[in-house]
Amino acid sequence: MNILKSRTLAAMGLGVALLASACGAGVEAQPGSDQVPTSTAEVGGDQATVASEPVVEQVTVASDPVVEQDTSASPERQSSGGPPFGQDQVPVKDISELETPVLDRLSDDAEEAPMYISTMVHMEGNWNDDEIEPLFLKHVDQIRLGMEIFDEYDAKLTVESEIPFSTAQINFGVNVLQELLDDGHGVGTHCDVGFREELMSVEEFAALLTERKELVDQLVGAENNRGCSGAGGVNDWALALAEAGFEYVDGLVGMHYLSMPEAERPDGWTDRYIRSEGFHENAPVDLAQSIHPFEVADATDFVPDEDGVIVVSAGSIGRLDTFAESQTDDACIRTESCALTTEDVDLEIEAIKEALELHDPTQVGKIDIYLPASIFTEENREVLEYFLAEVDKLVQEGLLEWATQAEVYDAYVAWNS
Ligand SMILES: [Zn+2]
Repeated sequence: MNILKSRTLAAMGLGVALLASACGAGVEAQPGSDQVPTSTAEVGGDQATVASEPVVEQVTVASDPVVEQDTSASPERQSSGGPPFGQDQVPVKDISELETPVLDRLSDDAEEAPMYISTMVHMEGNWNDDEIEPLFLKHVDQIRLGMEIFDEYDAKLTVESEIPFSTAQINFGVNVLQELLDDGHGVGTHCDVGFREELMSVEEFAALLTERKELVDQLVGAENNRGCSGAGGVNDWALALAEAGFEYVDGLVGMHYLSMPEAERPDGWTDRYIRSEGFHENAPVDLAQSIHPFEVADATDFVPDEDGVIVVSAGSIGRLDTFAESQTDDACIRTESCALTTEDVDLEIEAIKEALELHDPTQVGKIDIYLPASIFTEENREVLEYFLAEVDKLVQEGLLEWATQAEVYDAYVAWNS
């Protein structure tokens, strides 16, 4: 975060913010529709957007829960939700087993492994950005506003793109993924594929992932595109992601358990349960395990392997704008219309603090927050800044550091080499 960044952001005007705000209002029924720009061109663009997007997103929610909800919070873990699962079924170390080695190591003045906080913004697979330029530009403006707000707090975004948004960037000549990189933020691929796919060969599944990867490679270079969020389903996502050239997977959810025998899943996590309810819950379900990246040799379990082919980089705490509402399963979640409030922030910060208590200082840690692109509106600025200020307190206390998904991966590799 530097002078160059501030200068770039200062160049972004109020128009960006207004458009983002208006679009957010139109699509998600949030307050602030009085801010809709009134010029003919902008109204035209917004009408096109408003007319097309809700249809797409509602269809998705109804028919393909993967796309819109794969990254949403699973605060059910904190409240109720989901069948009870015995701790003995969860393939993780009991935190108490870690205490002795941790203390031994610390008493030898060993360096403590860092604890990171990262974010994910998903440019979804069911969006029509490649066909509707105003919709694409709306999303670009949302990301630019997100950068502007995050930069004030030296915080880091990671934006992960599926086919439509990647294609739109190429076709419309706006490379916002490169803008993110140039500004010190992170990028990657989003893989909204796998949940509905039948069992196929690793090569066939890898080809679907490669299709998504190559578009992002084209925009930022393969060296900057090393991870994918998603890809969970019956196919071996670990082998296929590695085959496609990815080095880490993030955004892990319930559907990543579908590739595993039931004995390797939490109790009660049948295919039926995952497909109807558990698909969007954060995985691995054990938070102490989830917040410490580890390698797996395949997708048959979440037990760390020494000869891993890919790093599982999870750590999801929950989606920020629905955090409070998801505790009560509010109807706004299904219509994607939950407002971002200070209550969301307060509960999310509480959850972050709980996760921090589980950090094993002998392992690199990671807490991950999901932010939909639509959260970046001028009307949400104040609450977003409140969130970032609250996180900054933890950063100033030395409990957390901001990182991109790729930086977490690099830190994991450095720590374990
Ligand atoms: Zn998605």
